[in-house]
Amino acid sequence: MKELWSPRIRGLEAYVPGEQPKDRRYIKLNTNENPYPPSPKAIEAMREAVSADLRLYPDPECTALLSALSRRYGVPAERIFTGNGSDEVLAMAFAAFFDPAGLPIRFADISYSFYPVYAAFYGLPYEAVPLREDFTVPAEGFCMPNGGVVLANPNAPTAMALPLSEVERIVAANPGSVVIVDEAYVDFGGESALSLLDRYPNLLVVRTTSKSYSLAGLRVGWAMGNEELIAALNTVKNSFNSYTLDRIAIAGAAAAIEDRAYFEACCQKVIATRERSVRELTALGFTCLPSSANFIFAAPQRIGAEELFRRLRAEGVLVRYFKKPRIDGFLRISVGTDEEMDALFAAVRRITGKTGEQGTGNR
Ligand code: PMP
Repeated sequence: MKELWSPRIRGLEAYVPGEQPKDRRYIKLNTNENPYPPSPKAIEAMREAVSADLRLYPDPECTALLSALSRRYGVPAERIFTGNGSDEVLAMAFAAFFDPAGLPIRFADISYSFYPVYAAFYGLPYEAVPLREDFTVPAEGFCMPNGGVVLANPNAPTAMALPLSEVERIVAANPGSVVIVDEAYVDFGGESALSLLDRYPNLLVVRTTSKSYSLAGLRVGWAMGNEELIAALNTVKNSFNSYTLDRIAIAGAAAAIEDRAYFEACCQKVIATRERSVRELTALGFTCLPSSANFIFAAPQRIGAEELFRRLRAEGVLVRYFKKPRIDGFLRISVGTDEEMDALFAAVRRITGKTGEQGTGNR
């Protein structure tokens, strides 16, 4: 059957998203979703958007959403681009800024696994820059001639943040190429590169409503950068699909962005549960990398990570396991509610045969 495929597509190895199983109810700690519902104001705005107006195409410029983002982040609307999840924004940015005939683009060897997939899709040469032994990002690895840089900050799946001074070093070292900083998780404790935008026309900051705004199901992401970069992204988008965001998504995302109090309360809850969970996992014998995200990258010491992953699944708890060099001893555990995390700890205790003497009382 593959003979009907374009030869370019035949050889591709596509990204595999975390599973969304339907066979039973799981405690889902495997795809870094937010355990709390979206803002009630966002739900209300989406209800209102479900109307006879759906017969009309949505606003291709997403004006209402751009205005909300502009007010919230203090960036002019002309310097913002929106898309169907930050995955789509990233995919369009790879097309807009990176050249198949140019120098290799650079991203970390352990980072968001969609980056090499996009690179392969567009036929872009790339160098995977090895993280240091302690999983920190070596800024110097991105400060040499290149065709572009992609940094996830905080990084995934390590959850570790790179200080802003290091991000600036990388952006400043690359005036001739675009540096994409993917800040999907920044609201949980990273330092944003947004403050650098005015000084560096080669910087593109990419964000999403999927994590901190609890809207993974809505598919809304955005990028902020110099007007020239935004114009390139709009050229790609309008060569592909002018209506990447529907009416419901535009209304819901704008209302969520405007509800700052709700957003902040949710982020604080996730951060508090993360800190408690790191203590609890450490007491259970895991080694946890320092997390600035809504997930924890943790290596169990008393049992293999893959075995624990399988046995947790059998117990109804889903986490993510990557069978890849350097990280195959770790599990990526999304931060759920306190109750979900307690269920995870109880399952780990059952599996490893450890009694609950460390308890869950240190919340
Ligand atoms: N960047 C990183 C680092 C991620 O982990 C994810 C989530 N899988 C995304 C981007 C994409 O998020 P979304 O498309 O839901 O905005």
